[in-house]
Amino acid sequence: MSPLYRFLAMRGCDMRTVMLKNGREVPALGLGTWHMGEQGRSRGAEVKALQLGLDLGLLLIDTAEMYGDGGAEEVVGDAIAGRRDGVYLVSKVYPHNASKMGVKVACERSLTRLKTDRIDLYLLHWRGQYSLAETIEGFEQLQRDGKISAWGVSNFDVSDMAELARVTDGAACISNQVLYHLGERGIEWKLLPDCQKAKIMVMAYSPLGQAELLDNETLGQVADKHRASPAAIALAWVLRQSRVVVIPKASNAAHVKENARALEVTLDADDLAVLDAAFPPPRRQQPLAML
Ligand code: NAP
Repeated sequence: MSPLYRFLAMRGCDMRTVMLKNGREVPALGLGTWHMGEQGRSRGAEVKALQLGLDLGLLLIDTAEMYGDGGAEEVVGDAIAGRRDGVYLVSKVYPHNASKMGVKVACERSLTRLKTDRIDLYLLHWRGQYSLAETIEGFEQLQRDGKISAWGVSNFDVSDMAELARVTDGAACISNQVLYHLGERGIEWKLLPDCQKAKIMVMAYSPLGQAELLDNETLGQVADKHRASPAAIALAWVLRQSRVVVIPKASNAAHVKENARALEVTLDADDLAVLDAAFPPPRRQQPLAML
């Protein structure tokens, strides 16, 4: 049993994990942080919401230097104080900071805000003006320096991933974080199966469609059947995929608890058919949707 499994089992938590291609095992259900750290008066509640999520076994936190202009990383730093080792920490660098030297400086700033000495997974937030080769050189140096344990990308479409694979050390990429939820299924056509085949973890962002999905009548019916919330069903639906990690954001404690319930829901063939009818899968390749 791996240390993470043991840790979750000891806490009586469900043990859904994803094995990364570097051999690290991470929780399949984590915590997003976009819009956290934007307002001083909400910070206490945000820290508590993240800590509740960690207590419930959602031991992966996704953040970015962009969120709240660094404020979200500060909130995360407060939430993980005293429990850093039990958390898989993901952050992202702005494309305009993604030069070889730029990533070094941006990463140091993030580490200071996060009050830690390493980031487990550091992502290029989206493609920008710097060549992939230059950004990867910077990431590889950060890894050698022990500042990050692994690196990946975000908002990369099929052609971006193909280009990345051709760059020196591009094969070291362990994750691509992309938009994926019931209402945005485009990646199922090619990007998702490609990543699964290459053992690249897909991190599904905005898995609740930023809460806009949750009023859907069909989702509500499946939720009633499972005596769960629509949010838990929307998350369980994403969690059914292999090699996919899901990172809903919730600042509200009741929301965090509902989201954690997703780990207890198993959707059956009937549920999946009903959801397919309401949210049809893609019928052709389409450009990657992003926020
Ligand atoms: P999301 O997780 O789909 O939705 C967040 C919204 O849903 C918030 O308004 C939240 O409200 C609400 N919510 C959460 N749980 C709920 C529940 N059980 N019932 C009802 N409402 C609920 O959207 P997201 O924040 O855009 O995406 C998740 C994370 O993905 C982000 O926080 C960020 O870490 C990452 N992300 C990455 C990118 C990228 O470009 N790489 C882009 C977007 C997002 P409360 O906060 O009030 O609880």
